[in-house]
Amino acid sequence: MNKITIAIDGFSSTGKSTVAKQLAKHLGYVYVDSGAMYRAVTWFAMQKGYINEDQFDKMALINQLDRLEISFKFNPEVGFSEVYLNGVNVEKEIRTLEVSSFVSQVAKVSEVRRLLVKQQHELGKNKGIVMDGRDIGTVVFPDAELKIFMTASAETRANRRYQELIEKGEDVTLEDVLKNVEERDYVDSHRKDSPLVKAKDAIEIDNSDLTIEGQLETLIALSVEKIEKSTTDN
Ligand code: C5P
Repeated sequence: MNKITIAIDGFSSTGKSTVAKQLAKHLGYVYVDSGAMYRAVTWFAMQKGYINEDQFDKMALINQLDRLEISFKFNPEVGFSEVYLNGVNVEKEIRTLEVSSFVSQVAKVSEVRRLLVKQQHELGKNKGIVMDGRDIGTVVFPDAELKIFMTASAETRANRRYQELIEKGEDVTLEDVLKNVEERDYVDSHRKDSPLVKAKDAIEIDNSDLTIEGQLETLIALSVEKIEKSTTDN
C-alpha cells in the first residue's frame, strides 16, 4: 500500500490534534503538531524578552532564528512525539494560556513561517504523515492526498480548551479562554502570510456533536479510501 500525506487544518481547539494523533497511530504514520512548532518559537521569544504584553521586537526574534532548533522525540509513555527547543523538552511550557495569547503574533512573521515550513517539508518528505495546523493543506502540503478542515462552534471549542487547561492545573476562566480562541481565530484567518482558509479540496467536518470515536472512524474511512486510490493510481 502507498503511504499518503494527510493534512488537518482548522480553527483553534477543534480537537484536531487529539484525532490526528489517533489517526496516525492507527495507520502507523508519523504525527506532527505544527502548532507546537509555532508555540515553541513563541516560548523562545518570551524567554528572551522579545515579546510581552507591551511589545514585540520582531527584528530581535528574526535575528535569532538561526539559533533555534526545534525537534520532536517520541515519548512511549504518552504515545506521541513531544516538542524540544534547543534540546530541551518544552511540551508543558508551550501549552499555557500565556503562550496562546502571543502565538498568533509570532505566527504572522513570514521569516518564522518560512523556517518552520521548511522543517515541515523535511518531516513529510517520505509521506506516511498526519500533520495538523492552519496552512497544511494550503501551503505546506498543497498536494496532500487527504485534506480535512475541522470546525466546531466557538463555545464548544472554548469549553474543550478550558477543561484541558483546568486539568493541567492552570488558573484560568472560561471567559479568558473564549476570548483567546476568538482572537487567535481572527488573527490566524486575517494575516497576510498563509492565512487560515479551507483548501478548495478539503473535506469539512464539524465535530461539535461528534464523539472522538465518531470522528476517528470517519477519518479512518476517508484515509483508507485515499490510500487505496493512491495505490491503484500508481
Ligand atoms: O494548533 P495550535 O492551537 O497549538 O496552534 C497555535 C497557533 O500557532 C495558532 O493559533 C496559529 O497562530 C499558529 N499556527 C499557524 N500555522 C500552523 C499551526 C499553528 O500559524 N500550521
